[in-house]
Amino acid sequence: MTTQLTHPTRSVDKVEANILASIRKSGPLSRAELGDLLGYSRANVTAVLNHLLALNILEERELGESQGGRRPRMYGINGSLGYVVGVDMGATSLDLALADLNGNILERVSEPCDVREEPEILLNRVAELIEEMLGARNGRSEQLLAIGIGVPGPVKFDEGVLVAPPLMPAWESFPIKTFMRQQFTAANVAIDNDVNVMAMGETCAGAGKGIDNFIFLKIGTGIGAGIICHGEIYRGQDGAAGDVGHICIDYNGPVCHCGNVGCLEAMAAGPAIAARGLEAVQSGSSDMLAEALAANEGIMTAKIVGDAAKAGDLAANEIVKSSGRMVGGMLAGLVNFFNPQMILIGGSVSHIGIRYLSAIRQAVLRRSTALSTRHLRIEFSPLGKDAGVIGAIWLALDHVFTIEN
Ligand SMILES: [Zn+2]
Repeated sequence: MTTQLTHPTRSVDKVEANILASIRKSGPLSRAELGDLLGYSRANVTAVLNHLLALNILEERELGESQGGRRPRMYGINGSLGYVVGVDMGATSLDLALADLNGNILERVSEPCDVREEPEILLNRVAELIEEMLGARNGRSEQLLAIGIGVPGPVKFDEGVLVAPPLMPAWESFPIKTFMRQQFTAANVAIDNDVNVMAMGETCAGAGKGIDNFIFLKIGTGIGAGIICHGEIYRGQDGAAGDVGHICIDYNGPVCHCGNVGCLEAMAAGPAIAARGLEAVQSGSSDMLAEALAANEGIMTAKIVGDAAKAGDLAANEIVKSSGRMVGGMLAGLVNFFNPQMILIGGSVSHIGIRYLSAIRQAVLRRSTALSTRHLRIEFSPLGKDAGVIGAIWLALDHVFTIEN
């Protein structure tokens, strides 16, 4: 943890940080509940709560169940202490939300972008959009306490820099935190990989709530996994954990953009599905795909293949099922290795239909050990395209308070 002090009232010690983390995770808690949860003495909890109340970080609420005519006092985060912003940066879209300190979304804005642009250009636009959202709430930039940013590339998390990002090479080692803090001096800034941020969104506000071990698999232009282990995001030694799109599934497969052959991503992600759709047109095996291709100005997409499969086209259906089987085969390896309770499938390709999910499920069940699938659920991500921006808000909330060592 960093010891950088950003604001006198936002630097907390470890006991205070543990109490704040418990309240953030569970919602408002009573003195006794906090003592039981954390194993601190009643006197210790009381002293810490009084200090956090004096700093205006916590507030008292009357929410508890009546116990013998008395309601216990409950302690919750003072949501109006300031603002946080979540930024979900996709390859072609920016999605931002302004939230209070309880994670309630107050403002939201989306627009197209191109991450191949220079970082200064895109981050200046992000800063403008943040100012607009603050302005809509009559907020000031010094009230912005944290910014969480999800980016489509590998991130060295503690430094907040991208390392060899294939989609956005100009961002290599760019100091995003320093750049954003020049404009928003009171804000702590955290940057993470987009899939980790989506997994965090599900764990804090979606289907992952209360689930200790699960995998979020994003399937779009690329394929990547966010791993929640013991309730926390697992980033690995250097932040590279979850890059499962480059697991080899066929040693005689096509060359991937990473330079290896037969990567799952090269064979089953959106572009591979579109390429196989185009092959089906060229071989004359699908009139439906040929018509859809002509109607879309000659551009084949994974969505077109999915729509044709839903409409009953046999060739399209086989492409969808084949992609699902390949994804499921890889996931079976993860299931045997990690024994998750749940796998959530998200990203643009997940919208190609329920047959896709069925094919994934069948392949996982066929190829995983019986014990590892006993409690396993495989579902589409319920937050869908909102998982990223919600996760980015929770990433920001994790960084509102600076913890003293
Ligand atoms: Zn690869």
